[in-house]
Amino acid sequence: MIKFLDLEKQYQSIKKEMDEAISGIISKAAFIGGDEIKTFEKNFAAYHNTAHCVAVANGTDALEIAIEALNLPKGSEVIVPANSFIASSEAVSRQGYTVVFCDCDPETYTISIPSLKSKITSKTSAIVAVHLYGHPCDMDALNELAQQHDLKIIEDCAQSHGAEYKGKRIGGLGHISAFSFYPGKNLGAYGDAGAILTQDEALALRCKMIANHGRIAKYDHKFEGRNSRLDGIQAAVLNVKLKYLDTWTDTRRKLASIYRKELSGISGLTLPQEKDWAKAVYHLFVVRTEKREALKQALEDNDIQTGIHYPIALPKLEAYTYTNQASEPFFANQSDIQLLSLPMGDQLSESEILTVCKGVKQFFSK
Ligand SMILES: *Cc1c(COP(=O)(O)O)cnc(C)c1O
Repeated sequence: MIKFLDLEKQYQSIKKEMDEAISGIISKAAFIGGDEIKTFEKNFAAYHNTAHCVAVANGTDALEIAIEALNLPKGSEVIVPANSFIASSEAVSRQGYTVVFCDCDPETYTISIPSLKSKITSKTSAIVAVHLYGHPCDMDALNELAQQHDLKIIEDCAQSHGAEYKGKRIGGLGHISAFSFYPGKNLGAYGDAGAILTQDEALALRCKMIANHGRIAKYDHKFEGRNSRLDGIQAAVLNVKLKYLDTWTDTRRKLASIYRKELSGISGLTLPQEKDWAKAVYHLFVVRTEKREALKQALEDNDIQTGIHYPIALPKLEAYTYTNQASEPFFANQSDIQLLSLPMGDQLSESEILTVCKGVKQFFSK
């Protein structure tokens, strides 16, 4: 069986260190707050070359708090790509702003710049730039538009820990960014966890206060906030794992290059592109084919698990009927029935990937 995601195997590879880190937290009863969190914030900010990190409870909170902290004009519109996880758009409407979807790029699946341009109005205040599947968005193009139209850029980095745009790590390339450490992400906790990064000190402080009931000191609440904390055990887990992230990314990239080598040139199968300015971290390796269901079944028959990200484009979800964008001629609205995520992860071996490739090639040779 080739699993789509093998978290047990990853744990076994770092078991001793992890068990010690976790039991250390329990024996100190450092469940909330404490050094592990400060250490993680410091190291994670440094890893992404940003000045500030605010650790929070999950990636969705990170997006919501980041958007709240930006204080966008009331009633304004925020543009979100049509292919993403719902959290990317949910965070916008939850903060009282209007979601406007734009299309995705058919080569990288990240936000389409031409489509984005066509959606900018006088009411647009921000863009959610999702570095989807681990591939960075075209940040220069986004920042240029942001400058021209006075827009804020929120990077959704939930799938792109350590990805690079023109040699610079993502996370500090817009105004503010949100990370998820959901267990299956490239850097995953052993439960829910998230973080916000920004180069802007005032913005970081505002996020920190929102996440902590509007306060800095114990009972000195400056405004109403909420509770969104990274807990001590998750921080300890992340501190252990952060040390391995580069090695795990290298593995993902190597496996992606095997997919490329083995699967290129198959007619009826489209591979994801990696732009020459990008260093993608391959949270997912998503191929496209009109025979998606049959290919998925054929691989399953060979004990190979796959995934679909995402089976329904955001504008087509029932939750977004109100946007009236389900029938827009977006590539994303049409390609959702063709996307298939092949096995990808730091614990997969080259020979397992070759087995997947064999299964795919067999399918298309019939
Ligand atoms: C996982 C994910 C999120 C949400 O993160 P959670 O930690 O699950 O709340 C947001 N955006 C994208 C693109 C994601 O993949």
